[in-house]
Amino acid sequence: MNLKISKWKNAAQAPVVFVIDDLANIYIKKTTSTTLQIGEDWGHSAHDKNSMWNFLNTNLLEKFPHIKSTFLLVTGQRTGMTKDASYTYNQAMDGDEKFIKFLQYLQKHPNVELAYHGTTHGKAGETVQDFLQEWETFNTLEEAVNTTKQGKKLFKSVLGKEPQGGKYCGYKEGKYGKDSIEKSGFKWWSYHEDNHIWDKNSTDPRYKYDLEFIQGVVNIPTTVDASNLSLKVINKLFTRKYLKSIYLYLKEKKTVERHIDSLYYNSEVISIYEHTSPYMTTEQIQYPNIITDIENLNLIFSLLSKKDIWYATCDELADYFIDREKTALIITGEKQFKLTANKNLNSELTLTFHNHNNTYALHDNDDNFLAEFKSKKEVCYVTYPFKIDYNYKIIEVKSRS
Ligand SMILES: [Zn+2]
Repeated sequence: MNLKISKWKNAAQAPVVFVIDDLANIYIKKTTSTTLQIGEDWGHSAHDKNSMWNFLNTNLLEKFPHIKSTFLLVTGQRTGMTKDASYTYNQAMDGDEKFIKFLQYLQKHPNVELAYHGTTHGKAGETVQDFLQEWETFNTLEEAVNTTKQGKKLFKSVLGKEPQGGKYCGYKEGKYGKDSIEKSGFKWWSYHEDNHIWDKNSTDPRYKYDLEFIQGVVNIPTTVDASNLSLKVINKLFTRKYLKSIYLYLKEKKTVERHIDSLYYNSEVISIYEHTSPYMTTEQIQYPNIITDIENLNLIFSLLSKKDIWYATCDELADYFIDREKTALIITGEKQFKLTANKNLNSELTLTFHNHNNTYALHDNDDNFLAEFKSKKEVCYVTYPFKIDYNYKIIEVKSRS
């Protein structure tokens, strides 16, 4: 029968996560206008007109309601890029009632996950080049773990539970990154900017397009930089980013569409990463960002909407991966099986087998019906909250005409 645990939930070809860095209780005024303008908000403005959340919903999430978003939250008061620089408004995550309520709203939202992105994001120097990212500032493992524990504690005091994962600030792990992430009890972490393999032809062996364990923590790679513009986004024709896309296409026939297709057909992780705002305390624009990239994001998610995708939060993805990797499928008889593991399952696993043109049902050992197998292409599959060491049967229901 060739029964297997599917690589991804619902036997999807590939998972998609949408990860947005630098949600923070900040806005930064860049225009003389007295009202909030698009791009100026990093999260503080909650549901207000032209806020980050309002812009993202109106221009993307309402059009593609299956998207699940993971926001990386800076928990404390974020530092500026240089010592003399400041934001127009800048508070910790618990700095005001409006932001607390907004975070609690996001936390309850079925398509949103909040994750951890440091306490201050780093330490400012005299110039932008002197800026140290948060994990680079730690002088001992103890300091890294204690600071991270404080950040997690603040997160929990506002949101009632600890963050399950997160990302280094600026992808810089410093001396104590991996050890501190392991010791801080995270389930998943985004360790590297893996899109570099595609973008810069790096042969750095750290970069991956698939999930793996790093010191027991699930590494969720960042594989699609959404500021790599499709050549179809012609309203960005004369921008530096568009010229870079033309260059990559002419030199190596690379396009963001081909990159996503490659991840998809190889059943790798399509993790699209972004920032909440284009503006920092410097004059530079921060890439990628949801404002500048909005047409590109629409094009990417429109492409994905025609594919066999599992839209997940990073936490859901990590849970499925851990359960899949830590569980063994034992065939106990003709169309009978059980799952064994040293732990209970946190996710609903999907089992598949090759289609024999019949329909099938999942039963327990007492012949109670549990679920029907669905089919697509050559496989039958069932997604179910399986219990460990429990006997299951697959029953042939009827022939398909
Ligand atoms: Zn960041």
